[in-house]
Amino acid sequence: MSQIAERMQAVRERISRAAADAGRRPEEIRLLAVSKTFPAGDIAEAAAAGQFAFGENYVQEAIAKIAALRHLPQLAWHLIGPLQANKTAAAAVNFAWVHSIDREKIASRLSLARPAGAPPLSVCVQVNISGEATKSGVAPEGAIGLAKTVAVMPHLRLRGFMGIAEPSAEAAIPRLQFRLLRELRDELRRQGLELDTLSMGMSADLEAAIAEGSTMVRIGSAIFGERNRETT
Ligand SMILES: *Cc1c(COP(=O)(O)O)cnc(C)c1O
Repeated sequence: MSQIAERMQAVRERISRAAADAGRRPEEIRLLAVSKTFPAGDIAEAAAAGQFAFGENYVQEAIAKIAALRHLPQLAWHLIGPLQANKTAAAAVNFAWVHSIDREKIASRLSLARPAGAPPLSVCVQVNISGEATKSGVAPEGAIGLAKTVAVMPHLRLRGFMGIAEPSAEAAIPRLQFRLLRELRDELRRQGLELDTLSMGMSADLEAAIAEGSTMVRIGSAIFGERNRETT
């Protein structure tokens, strides 16, 4: 078995254990393999081991890999990094999901640019659940309003919320931040929106995220190894 296949199996086992600990079924939690900074060959290796959903942070970097992997049409590409207005057209064409909607302008540009024949672009509103000034995402106070605005855009399908917890040695802290995201989702569900996604949990904190209701964990280093550089 390749190293990537072995690591993916270990991650799936962590997900299953965390689900069992939370009294949940492991099928409720989707695994998004975050391949930013890693080459197309690593993605092909993960695909050979049964992984088809990949997360990328940078539009240009992703487009190059999408082109290199055209022969694998079952791959689904998720944009999880902050999106600039001048990249929305390329994002609307190349991705199935965008997790990082943080303002109305980005969402409306994505909706306008989504190709007519394509299914609606699945999107999540990213919420700054850690409150750190350096983190992207709409403030929690603005999340419900933005989500309602996005939900009625014609070529988008609002799936839920995405959040990144503050790295902390104290396990209670990410849990509280993930809980905030779940409560926002629950509030919108009470208001009648059909949301099926809580995109939360990374290599270091997937257990806390699953305990708080994550339906999609975004896992990079635990699958592909440590990143020694971040591209721009
Ligand atoms: C890089 C990244 C991840 C994956 O992080 P790991 O710690 O490597 O698992 C998940 N989500 C977002 C938004 C990221 O930028």
